[in-house]
Amino acid sequence: MFAKVILKSGKDQSVRRFHPWIFSGAIKKIKGDVKEGDYVEVYDNHDEFLGLGHYQIGSITVRMLSFVPAEPTAEFWKSKIQAAWELRKQLGLAGNPATNVFRLVNAEGDGMPGLVIDYYAGTAVMQMHSIGMYHERELLVQAMTEALGSDLTAVYDKSESTLPFKAETGAVNGYLLGQPENSAVLENGNRFIIDWTQGQKTGFFIDQRENRLLVGQYAKHRKVLNLFGYTGGFSVYAIRGEAELVDTIDSSAGATELAERNVSFNFPDCPNHRAITADAFEYLQHTDNIYDLIILDPPAFAKHRNVLHNALQGYKRLNTLAFEKIAAGGILFTFSCSQAVSREQFRKSVFSAAAATGRQVRILHQLSQPADHPVNIYHPEGEYLKGLALSVDY
Ligand code: SAH
Repeated sequence: MFAKVILKSGKDQSVRRFHPWIFSGAIKKIKGDVKEGDYVEVYDNHDEFLGLGHYQIGSITVRMLSFVPAEPTAEFWKSKIQAAWELRKQLGLAGNPATNVFRLVNAEGDGMPGLVIDYYAGTAVMQMHSIGMYHERELLVQAMTEALGSDLTAVYDKSESTLPFKAETGAVNGYLLGQPENSAVLENGNRFIIDWTQGQKTGFFIDQRENRLLVGQYAKHRKVLNLFGYTGGFSVYAIRGEAELVDTIDSSAGATELAERNVSFNFPDCPNHRAITADAFEYLQHTDNIYDLIILDPPAFAKHRNVLHNALQGYKRLNTLAFEKIAAGGILFTFSCSQAVSREQFRKSVFSAAAATGRQVRILHQLSQPADHPVNIYHPEGEYLKGLALSVDY
């Protein structure tokens, strides 16, 4: 028997529309003993069953796992993981000889709030964001072993920094299964060395895969500036696309080393790539170089809504500096991965930047996250990556 979470009158509307989060303010009372990470059953004010979820102390109190009666057995988790794997097969990712890195589980977008799993050539790197999901890790490994079969060689748990720190789980990063055969992956035929143990997030920004491909298509004979370059993903594609030269900028020396390593992994003795450790804003302010293609992929400027205004100003400033360094006929790829910033707000910041510099700008592509980062239509919060590919005419 799981504890029962009873919602206040009228607070059942969003869960009836399948929103997977129940906020603390919606709860009238909890019947039965409950600890962080436990399963709870959710009921409306008239004792009607609404679903099953994981309980957590905090503003999001319940993360819903099922909206119909369900037993959270090994079979339950296997069917969820199986569905996620089948989707990646349908998307042409699982089993693709040119790409063996993709997101296998995208939290709410795959009906598993609190869980991200990225797949790197046989190694699944898991990040749990809730205690409930952390408790499931053995069942999740078992489910992956069954669903992926020989396509799974290792599982690495990297939840130490993503679990809510109030909970004293004693979580330590480490392998739950096997040891990786290697950490070299392929993305659209490009090779990358991934360090999931030390790298940011799970080691690679998989969500830019399709946008990298597009950058590659525009790169020919262009002078390219890749700002916030991290592992050099965009740079590798630009070189593959026959860019005249590529400068990769990142404020972290570790990142520029990774970028250099990945470029030379693909193109030994590549003379037209430079990796520079610098602050992107300062670089743009001080460089005399003019580029034909600039990529701006900064970290999230707004982690919370209360810093939204500053974030929008930050995007405006960054894009203004970039518009000033781009040649007539140039292309700007500009992104925001701040979930709190809407597509419309981001576009307005870029519009303000264009207006401030007087450049003539047209939108060529509206960019987003790829299909292995699906967005649950009932959970619009899951849509975070937005971008624009702009032609800067004169
Ligand atoms: N474009 C990358 C992902 C970028 S992640 C990709 O395709 O994989 C954001 C990167 O910005 C991080 O590597 C971080 O070190 C870097 N960064 C953060 N603040 C910065 C700043 N002010 N100037 C330059 N780089 C910065």
